[in-house]
Amino acid sequence: ATPMSIMVASGKGASLGVLFKNAEAIQTLRRVDTLIVDKTGTLTEGRPRLQDVVAAGGFEEEQVLRLAATLERGSEHPLAAAIVQGAEERGVSPERYTDFESVTGKGVKGRVGAQAVALGNRALMEAEGIEAAALAQRAESLRAEGKTAMFVAVDGRPAGLVAVADPVKETTPEAIDALHEDGIRIVMLTGDSQTTAQAVARRLGIDEVIAEVLPEQKAEKVKALQAEGRFVAMAGDGINDAPALAQAQVGIAMGTGTDVAMESAGVTLVKGDLRGIVRARRLSRATMRNIK
Ligand code: ADP
Ligand code: MG
Repeated sequence: ATPMSIMVASGKGASLGVLFKNAEAIQTLRRVDTLIVDKTGTLTEGRPRLQDVVAAGGFEEEQVLRLAATLERGSEHPLAAAIVQGAEERGVSPERYTDFESVTGKGVKGRVGAQAVALGNRALMEAEGIEAAALAQRAESLRAEGKTAMFVAVDGRPAGLVAVADPVKETTPEAIDALHEDGIRIVMLTGDSQTTAQAVARRLGIDEVIAEVLPEQKAEKVKALQAEGRFVAMAGDGINDAPALAQAQVGIAMGTGTDVAMESAGVTLVKGDLRGIVRARRLSRATMRNIK
């Protein structure tokens, strides 16, 4: 395309809340046939809220929530913020923690007084050698509702569950319908559990789900789809998504997300509205048509 047509497309994009980093992004977007989307913060608002607290093993709900909220004060994860805020709203005040450790893609652990507390997904429980079978079914039914359920364990034994739900962005269903009309296949990529991811995907009509992916595996999953001959755009918001955004033919960052994601992407959706992708593809087609 001519520099002039690229400039025009950039200007139009900006007025629609779509920022192109370079000419390449404008030129390649029209060729995309597969959109890979991160779930948390991209399809959803990324501001989960505490929904359920389940107690087990002789613990009380309030204790379970207090221990969870205490430990999560050490974490910067959106799930942590939901648990801390949920406790506050329920009048449960946290205590002091020590020996805090964050286990990427799995959860957190540390000590609260004399108690060793672990909080996270099944993989964390397995890594810690904690037998959580007694709570597995309850966790699974919370996940089937699209919630993220996390195990709380104390001194190596299950003490309960906390579940949070992250609302889907208001604009997401319309964006997905429009992308489908445009002939694009949509793949959800998430570190969340298979069951939670499937529940959210089903609700939105997403074509394919790749769940329980560790942050460092996201770029690999993009590569695997490219190896199938697909022309891939990846949309994400987190630091974790940056390598995958860079790997995709077109990286699309949420303007509501982290700077690292925006730096790795060719396109930024200012308000994190996925409908911008459809508009951007329209601009891409129009720009490339002009030069023929
Ligand atoms: P996503 O890709 O959806 O943003 P992550 O890779 O950050 O997910 O996390 C994957 C899973 O690890 C979460 O669904 C949760 O079960 C667990 N996890 C991660 N961080 C925490 C935390 N701070 N507290 C509890 N669980 C966590
Ligand atoms: Mg995210």
